[in-house]
Amino acid sequence: MNLVAGKVALITGASRGIGRAIALRFAQEGAHVAFTYLSSVEKGEALTAELAAHGITAKGYRSDASDYKAAEDLVAQVLVDFGKLDILINNAGITRDGLLMRMSEEQWDTVITVNLKSVFNLTKAIIKPMMKAKAGSIINLTSVVGIRGNAGQANYAASKAGIIGFTKSVALELGSRNIRSNAVAPGFIETEMTGDLNEKAVEEWKQTIPLKRGGQPDEVADACLFLASDLSRYITGQVLQVDGGMLT
Ligand code: NAP
Repeated sequence: MNLVAGKVALITGASRGIGRAIALRFAQEGAHVAFTYLSSVEKGEALTAELAAHGITAKGYRSDASDYKAAEDLVAQVLVDFGKLDILINNAGITRDGLLMRMSEEQWDTVITVNLKSVFNLTKAIIKPMMKAKAGSIINLTSVVGIRGNAGQANYAASKAGIIGFTKSVALELGSRNIRSNAVAPGFIETEMTGDLNEKAVEEWKQTIPLKRGGQPDEVADACLFLASDLSRYITGQVLQVDGGMLT
């Protein structure tokens, strides 16, 4: 079943982890894939060839999602290169953890700008072409931490909670134009972002997850595929948790 065949998807931060898994899953399902990366230049370039092997059009762009003008330029260039844009996946994200007592202004600003402002930047740039097409699916990567909060991640939790409010507002504003806006909230997914965490603590956490294991990037990608495809055509403004039941 080619769930998104012929659609054009733009995915931010696809050089590694969840973004990379989403790009590969969408290419397998016949979507043309435009994606971004920032510091992982070699990985980004290698992904283009890997995606194209699925017989779709793929192109990587080195672009900082937190930069408003760069996002505008990116969307304009993707429209030139691909001719249309059906799906936007705001995936780029970072952590700069620390207890609030010790958190610097720079740690706060960086996380809010990269995680939250980027979602505004890309969505602003894409809504005009989507409104013109009278169709579109926007998917934003939030986190269970944005729903529940997390000690040591006040900046990250605030950015991810902000994404949920933004996602729901866009759903309300653009539903009448047949543009859907949903969020995916992963729990603990095994990527470089979570790779640095203390092994013993991670094992203890896993035991608190009903499914008794961490998630894999492709399990988040499958949820994104559902929200991008017509299988979810009557779903907007929702937060889909992909967390093994961690937060019930
Ligand atoms: P990751 O392995 O650290 O990868 C992050 C990706 O974002 C990289 O491709 C990176 O590109 C890109 N990126 C970072 N800053 C960027 C910027 N300013 N502009 C463009 N791209 C940028 O992270 P992940 O675990 O895959 O997480 C992906 C998303 O899921 C994030 O939004 C994260 O908050 C969310 N999430 C993850 C988990 C988890 O357990 N892993 C849980 C909940 C939510 P470069 O390397 O090229 O810079």
